[in-house]
Amino acid sequence: MGVGSENDKKSVLIVDEETVSLEILKDILQNEFHLLQTSDIHEAADLIRKNRDHLSVILLHEKQDGKNRHDERSQRLIDGFETAVREEQFEVFYQPKFNIKADIPVLTSAEALVRWNHPELGCIAPDSFIPLFEENGLIRKLDLYVWKKAALQIREWKKRLKISVPVSVNVSRVDLNDPLLADHLKELIEEADIAPQDLLLEITESAYMDNEEEIIARVCELRSLGFMIGMDDFGVAYSNLNIITHLPIDALKIDRRFIVDAFSGKGDTRMIEIIIDIAGYLGVLVVAEGVEDRKQLQSLKNMGCDIVQGYCFSKPLKAKDFEVFLEEKMRSLSRKEI
Ligand code: C2E
Ligand code: MG
Ligand code: MG
Repeated sequence: MGVGSENDKKSVLIVDEETVSLEILKDILQNEFHLLQTSDIHEAADLIRKNRDHLSVILLHEKQDGKNRHDERSQRLIDGFETAVREEQFEVFYQPKFNIKADIPVLTSAEALVRWNHPELGCIAPDSFIPLFEENGLIRKLDLYVWKKAALQIREWKKRLKISVPVSVNVSRVDLNDPLLADHLKELIEEADIAPQDLLLEITESAYMDNEEEIIARVCELRSLGFMIGMDDFGVAYSNLNIITHLPIDALKIDRRFIVDAFSGKGDTRMIEIIIDIAGYLGVLVVAEGVEDRKQLQSLKNMGCDIVQGYCFSKPLKAKDFEVFLEEKMRSLSRKEI
């Protein structure tokens, strides 16, 4: 609907449901303005775009409280889930991790991080839908989808680029309740023709507390199949230190909050140092995520951190862009520049 023909009249776009006050407002305005009305936010966006040259926009707030809007959005995400899986709207991004022990950082692996390319809501970050899908169990299907994509990607890079990049995938606490988890993962790597060592599993620290013995047994089973286990978000769930010594893990991933705290105003790095000590005591690798600049990187290196993931090296990248990143690294390696 274009409004250029409406001579000099400016256009006002009113976005709301019909309410008495809105009717009154329309009465007052309609002699001076050409009024468009929609209660659909996407149609509104469309109208704004089409009429951008002669449009003054008044957005009237919806008469809904925040919770209703949140519920509606959640329902919309849930309703769109099956189609999204079918149409491959979920996209796996890859963020590199570097071992920083030597003088020159060495690419060791990447983390697979999902995004949702929603046809109407745009690109949605995982924090907006993972907790929701954990609540209703849809996460199991989504995680399986992400793991499959990651496994196929690993194989493709091996075959086509002749590079072996292990990829870590996130395993939700909900996945861990599945007694067949190990079978699913075994089948998945066999189908993709990769080794268990190619697919690293990140399990959040707090998941171990849900049903400690059962979870530990399940993780032991995964490890006995050859999968390596990283404990994600370490330090926030206040694990019992006594229990940690018995947990089947290969790496501790320091929660990003500690990195933020350490390198913001307070500059208190003690928590990081403690976690690095714990990792040393357990004989496992320690990974820092959310490392944003060279100064932080150097400081973590001085503290004895093994592996770093963060914007200082790269943001999470689409598979194609990650490939370019890999190729550049290989080229610079052959020139001995890194
Ligand atoms: P996580 O597993 O702890 O992943 C690390 C998060 O830190 C990612 O956020 C990553 O983009 C972000 N990050 C890394 N380096 C930096 C940095 O230098 N600065 C800043 N500001 N952020 C950095 P993202 O991708 O938004 O993922 C958030 C969380 O969502 C993940 O935290 C993970 O718990 C969950 N998640 C993501 N993908 C999946 C998935 O496929 N399955 C499951 N179950 N959870 C997932
Ligand atoms: Mg993770
Ligand atoms: Mg984390």
